[in-house]
Amino acid sequence: MISGRTKAFALFGSPVEHSLSPAMHNASFAELGLDCVYLCHDVVPSAVAAAVAGARAMGFAGFNVTMPCKAAVIEHLDELSPAARLMGAVNTVKREGDRLIGHNTDGAGLLRSVAERGFNVAGADVAVIGAGGAGSAVFTQAALDGAGRVSVFKRANASFGPTSQKIAALSERTGVNLTLTDVADEAALERAVREADIVVDATRVGMAPLESQSNVREEWLRPGQAVVDTVYHPRETKLLALAARAGATPIDGLGMLLWQAAIAEEIWLDVAMPVDRVREAVFGG
Ligand code: NAP
Repeated sequence: MISGRTKAFALFGSPVEHSLSPAMHNASFAELGLDCVYLCHDVVPSAVAAAVAGARAMGFAGFNVTMPCKAAVIEHLDELSPAARLMGAVNTVKREGDRLIGHNTDGAGLLRSVAERGFNVAGADVAVIGAGGAGSAVFTQAALDGAGRVSVFKRANASFGPTSQKIAALSERTGVNLTLTDVADEAALERAVREADIVVDATRVGMAPLESQSNVREEWLRPGQAVVDTVYHPRETKLLALAARAGATPIDGLGMLLWQAAIAEEIWLDVAMPVDRVREAVFGG
């Protein structure tokens, strides 16, 4: 029951009506017996300042931020985690006294879903395709977590230059060997995928209308590799079907979604979200 003592958590972004975050967090709060509630609020970037001021004034215990507000929220926060600062994007905010601290759990969420299947990023050779919000979160967190090498691929479009500068700065900051290559360079992509311990596709390829496509060929994949698709609709993308056929370990995007929420609850409440029970309750397993 919601009472006068119930702690409020929320999602700010636009659109949010199809977000799965309320279902995941409220299922978790119920499982854990926590007097907490999670709601969604449609907030556009021009309203972020007012939304954050409202969350401060009303004593929200924490909130998530999604597209298109992940960068716009930053100037309204008091402090950023190293990952959020490097990514230039915040998806989780924790209230500590009067201060609001911004974090980013997207990359850590994906890597936790990989760790859950027995693959450790520390020292690993990682290939990441796509350098949008999801891809940047993954390659940044992989570098922060001590990957041995991170090979990033993206299209040679207007964001190639800025991404290249970001990757060079991240390499300098972490000491990890990071490279950025045009995804159209198929020989380089094949080499990186063949050599990788963990392959991540963080592009829109695999979801409608690109559901029949894969950036990676089956013959590049092998047993002993984790192959992750950030897409979770469909659950089994073309890439994951190829990975299964090649004997690699396919990991779907629901893991990233669940674990970014679980890490947010660790940050807000210092609790361990019952990930398997939330997966069952929200996604049927
Ligand atoms: P975004 O910031 O808009 O970036 C779009 C990404 O998709 C970029 O990497 C872009 O490549 C790539 N892309 C788009 N169309 C493409 C095409 N025709 N061929 C090759 N690459 C293409 O979006 P995002 O937030 O990073 O999301 C990327 C994917 O991750 C989406 O499928 C999204 O559903 C998924 N996602 C999943 C979770 C989760 O929790 N599982 C969370 C966030 C996102 P360029 O950089 O080369 O332009």
